[in-house]
Amino acid sequence: MYKNLFDCHIHSENSHDSKISVKDICLQAEKLGFRGLAITDHAECQGYLGCDYAANIANSLKDTRRAKEEFEGRLQVICGFEIAQVLQDYDLANLISDSNTFDFVIGSLHGIGRTKETFEYWNSTEPVDIDRKIEDYFDQIMEMTRWGKFDVLGHLTYPIRYITAYHKIPLDFARYSDLIDQVLRLLIETGHGIEINTSGLRQGVGFPMPHLPWVKRYRELGGEIITIGSDAHFLEHVGAGVAECMDMMKQAGYKYFTYYIDRKPHFELLD
Ligand SMILES: [Zn+2]
Ligand SMILES: [Zn+2]
Repeated sequence: MYKNLFDCHIHSENSHDSKISVKDICLQAEKLGFRGLAITDHAECQGYLGCDYAANIANSLKDTRRAKEEFEGRLQVICGFEIAQVLQDYDLANLISDSNTFDFVIGSLHGIGRTKETFEYWNSTEPVDIDRKIEDYFDQIMEMTRWGKFDVLGHLTYPIRYITAYHKIPLDFARYSDLIDQVLRLLIETGHGIEINTSGLRQGVGFPMPHLPWVKRYRELGGEIITIGSDAHFLEHVGAGVAECMDMMKQAGYKYFTYYIDRKPHFELLD
């Protein structure tokens, strides 16, 4: 049993796809013996102003700050958010990033379409040129990384959740190892970390995103910053898979994982 359990990716009722309150999340994490957690509600740039994301992020911040006070000394509560589809509206992405005070920002890519209509591309049932789309996915991640206003890259290899887990098309990311190398090198050069997203363990992928080989590779290239997050949208998933991913980090040769406070990385023993 680890002493230093941190779940750095959780969605509260201030995300469109979750119904759990920040307080219940904190009580659950405390019950499970966690030392800390980050609430990281969705800020999807392609619909931010029209789909209540702006109000949700304001409420998320309010609820999380309140929990931070309430749980002080019992559980470290970190105010974060998950910004996604940055490329679809840079002005808005800048506005969201610059106008709020958070501890921690996850930068994610949930769809590679440039318009609202093609968002959730990976849900498409039409035949697709997978190689081209994966290349596009990595290109967009690199573009987002050059923009840079986030701390860690969310769930690298995310398309596997749709291609393999939903559509049952086997896909080995090893064939994209050159592209993954480029992404990892750029993240390291620009001072960004990665997260290990444990949701793959429970969503049919069979391993976290990214999986062990890429975590090892990140380390070989000099990467030091890794947060671990369950991406929980339900109470029963809070903290799920975090201990397994701490084991995985050790296997990859790491001694420390990371969490963020005030946008600064803190390194904590994998203990
Ligand atoms: Zn995400
Ligand atoms: Zn998420």
